Amino acid sequence: MNNVNIKKDYDAIIIGAGVIGSAIGFELSKKGWKTLNVDRNPTSGYGSTAASCAIIRVHYSTFDGCALAYEGYHYWKNWENYLEFSDEKGLAKFIECGCMIYQTDTNQYLEKVIGRAEELHIPFEYWDPSQIKSKLPIVDTHKYAPVKLPKDKNFGTHAGDDLQGAIFFPTAGYINDPQLSAHNLQRAAEYKGGKFLFNSSVTEIIKKNGRASGVKLSDGTEIRSSVVINVAGPHSMKINRMADVEKNMNIKTKALKVEVSHVKPPEGFDYEKKAFVVSDSDIGCYSRPETGNHILIGSEDPECDERIFVDPDDWDDNFTDQWNTQLYRQAQRYPDLPLSSNIKGVVSLYDVSDDWIPIYDKSDLPGFYMAIGSSGNQYKNAPIAGVMMANLVEKCEAGHNHDQDPLSLHLKYIDRTIDIGFYSRNRKINAESSMSVLG
Ligand SMILES: Cc1cc2nc3c(=O)[nH]c(=O)nc-3n(C[C@H](O)[C@H](O)[C@H](O)COP(=O)(O)OP(=O)(O)OC[C@H]3O[C@@H](n4cnc5c(N)ncnc54)[C@H](O)[C@@H]3O)c2cc1C
Repeated sequence: MNNVNIKKDYDAIIIGAGVIGSAIGFELSKKGWKTLNVDRNPTSGYGSTAASCAIIRVHYSTFDGCALAYEGYHYWKNWENYLEFSDEKGLAKFIECGCMIYQTDTNQYLEKVIGRAEELHIPFEYWDPSQIKSKLPIVDTHKYAPVKLPKDKNFGTHAGDDLQGAIFFPTAGYINDPQLSAHNLQRAAEYKGGKFLFNSSVTEIIKKNGRASGVKLSDGTEIRSSVVINVAGPHSMKINRMADVEKNMNIKTKALKVEVSHVKPPEGFDYEKKAFVVSDSDIGCYSRPETGNHILIGSEDPECDERIFVDPDDWDDNFTDQWNTQLYRQAQRYPDLPLSSNIKGVVSLYDVSDDWIPIYDKSDLPGFYMAIGSSGNQYKNAPIAGVMMANLVEKCEAGHNHDQDPLSLHLKYIDRTIDIGFYSRNRKINAESSMSVLG
């Protein structure tokens, strides 16, 4: 869709057409709202969504995190039915290869994760080191913790002990094309009447009578709406400042530079077909198979690594030593991993909240809402975040005071009810969080 036929009045303007913004556009359109997603990029899903590893996993450090992720899994599993419309570009595919998490000192041998999986009836298996090796013969199951930088003299050494084992969740995997998944949501929203405006930057939140009443674009165009939703990814803090709502929030967001290494697996092993998503806190890396028999390796943000927070409009998007660090760390686990110097992968930004848990909430400015702070781990929740935000906006606009009486949401697939107040902008820092991409 090009930018013609954009009117000047909407029921809701959604700033951002990433996977979460597009999902909110779709869910509100389904409720009969006239929506407009505005994005500075040329099409949907070109922000952090395009850079995403798009891992769908069901383990989190908090109960609400697990429940939301397991609900979200079912949306990806039923993607075509959920969209109610097909996309001329095809549909994003869910590769359900499963996810293995090593039991380590760092994650307390997954005691909490196992408890939550049992409570939510999420299927899982225990694997001991010999079972791990039978599934992934390229693996060295020695303990390498604590995670170190490659320049540390003890890097790559172990005392001979094996890891205890791992937990394998079959209901996990990854989406082969995250940008396409946002486009699928865009098309589904358009089918329900939603509009999208691209190559257009929001520069101001217009206010009238003490509430949000629209947005102003960089070319001076003003578009009116009594509801404005900030889903601007790593730019979320800038949009909150435009609305002047950030200063009253207890939890804030920042843009964090991150890198993903894209490398070949050990020779002779079909990683794409035989491997799965792996979370390995013993070496501080997560990984997943990638099309063309490659491995994607990302960081689990260990303590020893510097965190590079940036201005999302002015940052250096070149690779740093992080790329090599991830490769060397992964080579501890896969000793035959080729140590290539052919740097390929992704440099992008996370929209990180103070406790690495997202904010799905209203604000102190009536009519202004936010779905932000996705902290490198909310791609998987995009469809259910769309459902949650559409319900929140609808009820608050009908007069409900979500700050005083937090709304709840029934998760239809797993038949659980969660408290949306868990995602409040005014919560205390959640001490149960991993304070990392693991959420
Ligand atoms: C490297 C990397 C790996 C990741 N891996 C995973 C993973 O494996 N699993 C997982 O669940 N999550 C993962 N994530 C996180 C996930 O990708 C994000 O949570 C998700 O894509 C966020 O979607 P979004 O719609 O909120 O933001 P975005 O996709 O960033 O969209 C925000 C949009 O807002 C637009 N915008 C910003 N400012 C303005 C403005 N002023 N005017 C108009 N438009 C504006 C931008 O152009 C952008 O398109 C990863 C993220 C990264 C960066």
